Amino acid sequence: MRIIVQKFGGTSVATPEQRQRVLHHIRKALAEEYRLVVVVSAMGRKGDPYATDTLLSISKQYGDVITPREKDLLMSCGEIISAATISSLLTKHEIQNCVLTGGQAGIITNNHHTNAQIITVNPKRVKHELEKGNVVIVTGFQGQTTDGEITTLGRGGSDTTATALGAALHAEYVDIFTDVEGIMTADPRIVEDAAQLEQVTYTEMCNLAFQGAKVIHPRAVEIAMQTQIPIRVRSTMSDHKGTLVTHLTEIDRPASEVRETTIIGITQMPNVTQIKIRVNQGQYDWQVSVFKAMADHGISVDFISVNPCEIAYTVYDDLADQAAAIISDLGLTPELSRGCAKVSVVGAGIAGVPGVMAKISEALTEEDVQILQSADSHTTIWVLVHGEDMVKAIRALHRKFNLHNLNYA
Ligand code: ASP
Ligand code: MG
Repeated sequence: MRIIVQKFGGTSVATPEQRQRVLHHIRKALAEEYRLVVVVSAMGRKGDPYATDTLLSISKQYGDVITPREKDLLMSCGEIISAATISSLLTKHEIQNCVLTGGQAGIITNNHHTNAQIITVNPKRVKHELEKGNVVIVTGFQGQTTDGEITTLGRGGSDTTATALGAALHAEYVDIFTDVEGIMTADPRIVEDAAQLEQVTYTEMCNLAFQGAKVIHPRAVEIAMQTQIPIRVRSTMSDHKGTLVTHLTEIDRPASEVRETTIIGITQMPNVTQIKIRVNQGQYDWQVSVFKAMADHGISVDFISVNPCEIAYTVYDDLADQAAAIISDLGLTPELSRGCAKVSVVGAGIAGVPGVMAKISEALTEEDVQILQSADSHTTIWVLVHGEDMVKAIRALHRKFNLHNLNYA
């Protein structure tokens, strides 16, 4: 069986017009003789009657008291409504189909309600339905524990459902249909001439996704990377094949891209606070106490830089006051820069290439953007900048690396 998993996000199933496009993509894949698994998100966005955010607000009507197990039951309804709606559309058009919940589709999770992790996927039932000639519509974002309890996979979890099923079924592609044409070199709301990428590697996509690109959930990319399932991120509204996320060796990158730059994209994470603590040389145990105290209070730290006399790290803005109070309680004096942004410059080819950081610092200096902190890995260079410099910084970097010229898609 040649199988494709098509995942349709909340906006893609929100209106009758959008659902016609869903029908179109389903028909197209069937005409190409694929067996089809269709994973759906809950319909629409915040404010729409059956959107996940709406269900969440219902869950809070007596305060934040709902038990996690019951919250999962409530939240799983959005995808069920969506799946049943798509099912009737297909039935109306005489496309044989059946709906399976996450549990029925064999998505088995641990019992961490509201943020469960998939432990295994048993695709037996899905395969059976495919063999019978059904388009199998699976409710995204949900699974079931080995005890039969309904769980949800954390916000944005439908992408994870799709790639996990794709992996278990050895699908040819997992198509993530969404409201953008593909993966862009930068956020098009910030950079007008941001270009659409034809291909990105799993590693690049992971970096983009973890560092703020909202198009696909990072966990979904990780699953695809581990299992080598190709993903196409594409628009419900068009027939363009979108951006292919795949393994580096499978990428036949256009010469223009290789020649121009090793960088493929820029992402941003705004609303973080940089915390700096300085002490006298020769004292070390304070570092341990700071990081331990953060951990004990459940505060996740990022962008960590440790020197003999100084540590610096970031936390989300809304945790800054709490973090500062904890540090003061340890008898230390934190210096806070609130409202910073972490800007990531991503490209799988940067390792060992001289001059990437030179270009970054040149681009930012030319625009009077101060780098508060920086870090790097083999695929990414991160810079921390003041929030008010973020847009300027992203535009300058995009220009410096000629990313608009990647527009070959
Ligand atoms: N409906 C869920 C959410 O909004 C899952 C998803 O759309 O991916 O988080
Ligand atoms: Mg989503």
